[in-house]
Amino acid sequence: MSKSNKMKILAIESTAHTFGIAIIEDKKVLINLKRAYTTESGGIIPINAANYHMAHKDDLLEEVLNESNTKIEDIDLLAYSAGPGLSPCLRVGRDLVKELNEKHKIPFIEVNHCVAHLEITKVLTGAKDPVLLYASGANTQVIAFEGGKYRIFGETLDQGIGNFLDSFARYLGLGFPGGPKISDLADKSKNYIELPYSVKGMDISLTGMLTKLKQLNDSKKYKVEDLAYSLQETAFAMLLEVSERAMAHCDKKELALGGGVACNTRLKEMSKIMCKERGAKCFIPENQFLVDNAAMIGLTANLMHAGGHKINKSNPEIYPYQRTDQVIVDWE
Ligand code: AMP
Ligand code: MG
Repeated sequence: MSKSNKMKILAIESTAHTFGIAIIEDKKVLINLKRAYTTESGGIIPINAANYHMAHKDDLLEEVLNESNTKIEDIDLLAYSAGPGLSPCLRVGRDLVKELNEKHKIPFIEVNHCVAHLEITKVLTGAKDPVLLYASGANTQVIAFEGGKYRIFGETLDQGIGNFLDSFARYLGLGFPGGPKISDLADKSKNYIELPYSVKGMDISLTGMLTKLKQLNDSKKYKVEDLAYSLQETAFAMLLEVSERAMAHCDKKELALGGGVACNTRLKEMSKIMCKERGAKCFIPENQFLVDNAAMIGLTANLMHAGGHKINKSNPEIYPYQRTDQVIVDWE
């Protein structure tokens, strides 16, 4: 235990474009810094993102320790995003944990990235038992805790909502991340053009809408602002239809948002309207905790540790394809 007698956790996030390091002391975020890979044009290339992380990890660690006035010897536990994610990126985080574990003999906890998006809303917003609309780059899932595990009640059948936004932005010649650029365009319009609305049971599909958007854009008959506006209205309505149905089925009265796309002001607004209409509460952490961040990994590790989850002494691993419902939840 560190000198202050409080558990100090150093947490790492590196599932995709963001390399983040945070230090958590009990439930308090002492520091939460990140370096995010971006491009001027074109999307995320996993190996380039991993090289970016490699180039920044040591400096970021030094900055986090210096700025928080922490010595590595004060750290009691390491935590990292072990999956799901892009293998080359996950490996950079895992290797840093391995290095610190071997050199300083600090034990570690492996954290599921999607579960961490949900847990952080509970710690930071006071949500007790929410349905989480997790709307990020690669992942789009509606998750809730039922029958002893985090279950996926609905998800995308093809691409994640963020990847979908980024793909259309890339097609328009805008760089990565495209979501904020689409959002800026959408803000300039109120002219709705009908697009394929594709909800299948509890799942959604986005590739048909992407094809249609490309065709409409190529026809040169429509303004990109109108396409961006219509895209947001249609895709977000699909996400909220599934979220609302999950709330009704599970009899849950809380909706939480997570993932980078949840930074979108229109998605936040539509979520609040849906909750108000059904007498539910809507919980949205501030943007720095919606996007990929290391604080959520540390806070989740803190909960896991406090709840009796086993800590590991050696050989950190990665699980690029780990699904939310495969996580054994022994800390709730
Ligand atoms: P994540 O993987 O959770 O960090 O989220 C990254 C995704 O969020 C990328 O696809 C971004 O384009 C998207 N994103 C970030 N900010 C916004 C925004 N304001 N509106 C829509 N999408 C956004
Ligand atoms: Mg994420």
